Amino acid sequence: MSRSFDVVVIGAGPAGYVGAIRAAQHGLSVACIDEWQNRDGKYAFGGTCLNAGCIPSKALLESSELYHKAQHDFKKHGIKTGGVEMDIAAMQKRRAGIVRQLTGGIGGLFKANKVEGLIGHGKLLAGKKVEFTPVDGEVEIIEAKNVILASGSAPVELGIAPFDGEHIIDSWDALELGAVPARLGVVGAGVIGLELGSVWARLGSEVTILEALDDFLFMADRDVAKVAGQEFRKQGLDIKLGTKVIKAKAGKSGVTVDYEDADGKQSVEFDKLIVAVGRRPVTDGLLADDAGVQLDERGFIVVDDECRTQVSGVYAVGDCVRGPMLAHKGSEEGVMAADLIAGEIAEVNYDVIPSVLYTNPEIAWAGQTEEQVKASGRPYKTGSFPFMASGRAKAMEQTAGMVKIISSQDDDEVLGVHIVGPMAGELIAEAVLALEFAASTEDLQRTIHAHPSLAEAMHEASLAVDRKALNFPNK
Ligand code: FAD
Ligand code: NAD
Repeated sequence: MSRSFDVVVIGAGPAGYVGAIRAAQHGLSVACIDEWQNRDGKYAFGGTCLNAGCIPSKALLESSELYHKAQHDFKKHGIKTGGVEMDIAAMQKRRAGIVRQLTGGIGGLFKANKVEGLIGHGKLLAGKKVEFTPVDGEVEIIEAKNVILASGSAPVELGIAPFDGEHIIDSWDALELGAVPARLGVVGAGVIGLELGSVWARLGSEVTILEALDDFLFMADRDVAKVAGQEFRKQGLDIKLGTKVIKAKAGKSGVTVDYEDADGKQSVEFDKLIVAVGRRPVTDGLLADDAGVQLDERGFIVVDDECRTQVSGVYAVGDCVRGPMLAHKGSEEGVMAADLIAGEIAEVNYDVIPSVLYTNPEIAWAGQTEEQVKASGRPYKTGSFPFMASGRAKAMEQTAGMVKIISSQDDDEVLGVHIVGPMAGELIAEAVLALEFAASTEDLQRTIHAHPSLAEAMHEASLAVDRKALNFPNK
């Protein structure tokens, strides 16, 4: 007799495993199928985020930042270190250890919440049946009352620069390099290009980033993008905008990249080339022809605002559906789908999803950019406060950047918060809460912020919106 579950989740990344746990918390019987295999041959839950994305990248960003600080910043604090040495093998061992602990933790969470974790391939058949092909054992047809598809995404491959895993590499390869490439090229000055470019630049690579668009960080507020671009260039990242890559060819000793920019056709040599030009939804082998679930022209699973597909009882969440490809967006969708299956009212506020770039300085924002508010025609006011005037930032020797707040002129509502500076990724949480509760600028102004703290910059920026900043001259 075939097994049956109230909910079968396909994919155990941050969208799928969180959805599975929430469904089980509702008292539903849940199975979560995943086939992720790491380079050591071991299977692991956690998807891209835990195995090859958010977590390993942040581990290396932290290590490389400390190495850079020990070399360049300690002396400003009056600390003499002598020769600072890098041990890449130890750095990578730490990264792998963190990944192992967190991915192993999901197995523990599944047990604690009574989710059946199944290792292998899942395929949705007609009638909400799921074909499960375990990594070892017989194919099984599982009956499901509800299905959540959470199959994630994979790097986009360029036909003019195909991945070879050795010289032309994707973000996963770039996280597992065993040595620092002397000359590192990156195609794409997006989130991955800037984060991984920063890691290897801090560890000693000469990094060149080739970006097709003329605008740097087109999705960010222009004031923030300008400051960030200046800081990254000061750090030695050579960011070439308006660059069309024509061809990348790997040879014995590296990669030759032909490109065209405003100065005409050029050629450059790298030891390694990371191609980070976006990610595409993964749906290979996920859907039987008669499963009834539709894909859009870009390959995303078509869903409504509540992540329902066209098939009743089948949901899709995370990177495989429309919207930003972010772990926290996927997790919230997983929770929403599970709550809806349990008969609860649930929604995701797509207008307030924070974005964070874990560069130095960090970049974070939530809500609308000034350009978006301007385009909407709503009268608005802005205020900003530079970290240069923050006592805490000065004590940390991290004074680059600012907090900028955009509020509506008519009812004082906070519409967008944009931060470039130290710990921006942590500071943005206050802005997300303010936006979620439709706070006014005055609410932020009247909220007491600890002194001395970086969060005071948020407070001062809210005061600056009404030209009432206390620790910086109002313009
Ligand atoms: P995934 O994490 O991709 O998981 C999908 C899972 O489904 C995988 O394990 C896959 O093996 C499995 N699967 C797919 N099809 C099947 C099938 N048919 N049967 C069985 N299993 C299947 N986001 C952030 O928010 N913050 C960050 O700091 C951040 N850093 C990143 C850094 C890098 C280098 C990269 C590449 C991404 C980063 N992201 C970050 C993006 C983040 O990783 C994704 O948004 C997130 O992982 C999406 O979650 P998901 O559950 O939808 O998909
Ligand atoms: P991205 O969309 O952030 O950036 C891709 C960049 O490549 C863009 O600037 C684009 O203009 C450029 N590009 C596209 N085609 C090009 C070409 N042929 N030549 C030169 N440039 C080209 O994509 P990504 O950096 O690959 O990241 C993928 C996803 O992973 C993103 O959606 C992001 O949300 C997620 N991610 C998030 C984080 C984070 O939250 N901190 C970190 C890493 C990745």
